[in-house]
Amino acid sequence: LPVDVILVDARNYHTFQPLLYQVATAGLDGEDVCYPVRAIFGRQRNARIIMGEVVGGDLAARRIDLADGASLDYDELVLAPGAVTNSFGTPGVDRYAFGLKSLGDALRLRSHVLTCFERAEANPELIDGGMLTFVVAGGGPTGVELCGGLAELIDRPLRRDFSHLDVGKAKIILVEATDRLLRMLSPRSSESARSALGKRGVEVKLNAGVAEVGIDRVGLVDGTAIRSRTLVWAAGIKAHPLAASFGLETGRGGRVIVDDYLCVPGRPEVHAIGDLAASLSIDGSVIPQVAPVAIQGGKYTAWLIGERMQGRKPSPFRYRDKGTMATIGRHSAVAELPIGLKLGGAIGWAAWLLLHLIMLIGFRNRANVLVNWAWSYLTFDRASRIIIQRDETMTGTVVH
Ligand SMILES: Cc1cc2nc3c(=O)[nH]c(=O)nc-3n(C[C@H](O)[C@H](O)[C@H](O)COP(=O)(O)OP(=O)(O)OC[C@H]3O[C@@H](n4cnc5c(N)ncnc54)[C@H](O)[C@@H]3O)c2cc1C
Repeated sequence: LPVDVILVDARNYHTFQPLLYQVATAGLDGEDVCYPVRAIFGRQRNARIIMGEVVGGDLAARRIDLADGASLDYDELVLAPGAVTNSFGTPGVDRYAFGLKSLGDALRLRSHVLTCFERAEANPELIDGGMLTFVVAGGGPTGVELCGGLAELIDRPLRRDFSHLDVGKAKIILVEATDRLLRMLSPRSSESARSALGKRGVEVKLNAGVAEVGIDRVGLVDGTAIRSRTLVWAAGIKAHPLAASFGLETGRGGRVIVDDYLCVPGRPEVHAIGDLAASLSIDGSVIPQVAPVAIQGGKYTAWLIGERMQGRKPSPFRYRDKGTMATIGRHSAVAELPIGLKLGGAIGWAAWLLLHLIMLIGFRNRANVLVNWAWSYLTFDRASRIIIQRDETMTGTVVH
């Protein structure tokens, strides 16, 4: 389109969030699932990239403000800052739990898990205090995939690495507040995921919510407690707080209310898409916060702006459901497609691998991931078992 595009992102890279759990479980390197934004738009002459954090703005004046004090004027504003972790106010979660929303989260969790094994090797008595007990809260795709990944990491690579440690004492506990895992799938697929996790040694606790977290314990709503040094919070997200900074009307989970054109009501020049927006499907239900919604919303909004520029009346946004899938690990996945097709086991797993490979941005990343996966498949090895320590910085002063 004959427009000038300014893309403002707080980071200089795009993150492929669906594979973050593989970074956290040492299956992939962090760089394999991220891609520099400038490389994506390098050939697009009418696109300018600014690395900066949007902190608010004045919609009436058509201006956004950045954290460094700069401001940008616009004709059309597309808000797509995604979502953040939602602790639902559970005591201790913000302080003690690990999240899995960003590359930093994934690398921090990987270092922590590996450090727990190092500590237990040095002092096996710590195992009784929960050093090797890993609790994951939330039985959605993120929690299920993370538990499967942890089980594979511990079962072979760490068992080999820590041959003097009784690795069999390591526990993975998945805590889900409702009566089944993967609620967006059919009960049959939920049960199949639960059983596949069970076979990998993951203890699944259903109807069990987390009530509070401390440095060495996870308290459940039934009053029991698990001795653990690790709680991963995969139990919920909420829309990015930027919506509130702009004073936009929000609904459940802080998601911005949008009209049929993904625009803020009364402000056709302000668009909200992806995890931030509460867009509606044809039956009036709110569309889930998943990648196909974000991608389709982005493409639709670009098209809509073009249609309006040419004086045409665009048709409303219609989400095309592509189905849902989750992998538990080697030869195991559950997938349900909108045409009613259900895939499981090795076929579901192959479909999951292929789809995630296709969706990754950048040929180099795809090649790296393919090689890593092939290597892990053939050798049961995991390449990235590196603990990144905070004191590994040199003395140079980092520009902020
Ligand atoms: C662990 C995990 C696993 C997932 N697995 C799946 C899956 O298997 N399938 C699936 O369909 N979906 C999955 N999702 C959901 C999917 O990743 C999201 O729905 C999708 O990324 C949303 O896209 P988005 O563009 O709205 O936000 P994001 O992808 O989160 O992008 C937001 C961007 O905004 C930037 N930003 C944030 N705040 C600011 C600011 N103030 N100023 C400037 N820039 C800012 C961020 O740096 C980021 O680049 C997963 C999510 C997670 C966390």
